[in-house]
This record gives sequence, structure tokens and C-alpha cells, in this order.
Amino acid sequence: MGGKRELTPEQLLQNNRQWAAGKLAGNPGYFDQLAHVQKPDYLWIGCSDSRVPASKIIGLRPGEVFVHRNIANVVPHTDLNALSVIQYAVEVLKVTHILVVGHYHCGGVSAALKGTDYGEIDNWLVHIKDVWRDNYDTIMALPEDKRADRLVELNVAAQVHNVARTSMVQTAWAEGRELTIHGWVYDLHDGLLRDLGVAISGCADLHAAYRIRELCEKARKAGGS
Ligand SMILES: [Zn+2]
Repeated sequence: MGGKRELTPEQLLQNNRQWAAGKLAGNPGYFDQLAHVQKPDYLWIGCSDSRVPASKIIGLRPGEVFVHRNIANVVPHTDLNALSVIQYAVEVLKVTHILVVGHYHCGGVSAALKGTDYGEIDNWLVHIKDVWRDNYDTIMALPEDKRADRLVELNVAAQVHNVARTSMVQTAWAEGRELTIHGWVYDLHDGLLRDLGVAISGCADLHAAYRIRELCEKARKAGGS
């Protein structure tokens, strides 16, 4: 186990044909049914890391989770890609849960802490460095080998707030819809997800500075918080 497999693109296409045939053998209508349905309740925002396959580790089938991944699961408010995914998931698919999922031993987070020159990606990693700066004393008080994993957790918490600060999320709350943003961390060593207990489900969980006043007022009247 654990060895690196050398696979050609042709073998991947062959794998795909076997997979599709296997699905049809179990259920001849499998793809017809899937092609008509995309009604996921969940949006997953995770790291691009190849060891964290989103739908597999939470046991969901195609059609059940909408996925966005980037290096170190960051949600900047000027990232058209992330914003478009959140907008589509919240307004069109009407997901009820957004999962922000980091993972221990995240290369992006470790790179931010090391401060090495990696080229252009260093600009992306500034988002992680911002979280480090905001929690600098907490992190630097830890032994060196514990700092990266703590920054992984704090980054997840920060990105949960970033998602909640978007106009799309606050609009959903204003419409009286249930929408919770969760912060989880995946451990590559045991395959388990850990809930960090930093979930946000309404304006009351947001710092006043980030509340869009009219939307939060509507949410309050709609019976949310
Ligand atoms: Zn990562």
C-alpha cells in the first residue's frame, strides 16, 4: 500500500470506461437519473490537495455536493471564482449548508509560515499570512511543530467568517432561509473530519462591522438572528 502508481492518461480513460460500466451493471438507469438531478444540499469549500477527495470522505454520491477547491481553502472577497460558486450554490441550488474544510499538513499553510520564496503563489498565501498576523501571539506561543496545524484551524475559522460576510449569504438569511456555514478539519492520518465548532448561521454570529444592515434587519424580522 501507499506506493505511487504510474498511470498513463490512456489508462485513466480505460478506468473511466470500467467505472461507467460498473455503475450501469448495478443500475441501468444510473446516468439517466443523475443527468437530470443536481439538487445538492451542501457546498464544500476545500483545499486542492489531492489527498482530500471531497465527496468520497463524506460518503456523498454525484449530485449531492457542490465543490469548490483552491490552495488552502481561502475565500477572498475579490475572488470572482469563489464568489460565483457561492452565489450559484446559495441562490440557484439553494444549499442549506456550506462546509469550509481545511486539513492538517496543508502545504499552502506550511508555505505561508515558512516564508520561503515560492514565486507568484506567495501573493495567494498572503491570505493565510493575514490569519497568522491576526493570531500571531497565539501561534508563536506554540512549539514550532504545532504551529502549522493550529494555523490550519484558525484559517478555517477565518474563512467561515469570510463566507458569512458575503452579500449572498446575508441575502439568504434576509429571505428567512436556513443556511449554516461550518468549519471542519480533515486529518490525513486517520481519515477523520473534526468539527471545529465555529459554525455561523445568522447575522448575530457576525461582527457588527460586517453586517449588511438592511439584510440583517430583514433576517431578524423573518425570525432568524
Ligand atoms: Zn492543503
